[in-house]
Amino acid sequence: MRRKLAAGNWKMNGSRASLTEVDRIVAAAVGLGIDVLLCPPATHLVWVRERIGREGIRTGGQDCHPEHHGAHTGDISAAHLADVGATHVILGHSERRLDHGETDALVAAKVRAAWAADLTAVICVGETLAERRAGDTLEVIARQVEGSVPAGAAGHNTVIAYEPVWAIGTGLTPSEAEIAEVHAALRAQLHRRFPAEAEAIRLLYGGSVKPGNAAAIFAVPQVDGALVGGASLRADDFVPILAALDAAP
Ligand code: PEP
Repeated sequence: MRRKLAAGNWKMNGSRASLTEVDRIVAAAVGLGIDVLLCPPATHLVWVRERIGREGIRTGGQDCHPEHHGAHTGDISAAHLADVGATHVILGHSERRLDHGETDALVAAKVRAAWAADLTAVICVGETLAERRAGDTLEVIARQVEGSVPAGAAGHNTVIAYEPVWAIGTGLTPSEAEIAEVHAALRAQLHRRFPAEAEAIRLLYGGSVKPGNAAAIFAVPQVDGALVGGASLRADDFVPILAALDAAP
């Protein structure tokens, strides 16, 4: 049985003032039967970790360098994230693929670095609107998974987030049938590549998850939770999403 996971990706948002939101999220998450992960900017990881205290909520980075240390000014290694208590790292987010030209091969190298530091990689894949309109969604995602998810993926070290690029931050979402189609294809691909671990790897949906659509999305087969951007910044938005996931079938 896969435990459900709600991950909040603050991106380049939030501030010290947002730590009061963390307090409210922690208070609401304690006692729920789901995993909760907060991924603030790296500068705020220590503060968020301190605010969570001993509660079981996890923290994660939003990227890491493929190497463990060295002359890479401005970069952060998986070891650094682990050193400040992070257990996860988001990798291959479409904003990194677009803003920084990250390829599947680079994402895979980062995933291996994350694993070496005992971090769980939350690997993002998703099609653009042009790719969806061209009917290429499943092919694009299969190619991204093939290239971005290295050999060795398992339930304890890998989460895959299906995030249609056109749904991120836009208020648009795919239909439930479209999400179901992609998640079924992802699960089938995992079975082909990692037969022993395929059922243990969690599949998240990400892209404009809000309190108003969360329950419907979480009812879709093979959706094990969500990667949430904008709605993870405020407890008023994120807490109802956590509750919806907790109540999901
Ligand atoms: C994201 O950036 O991973 C994301 C899903 O963003 P949003 O929820 O704001 O669409």
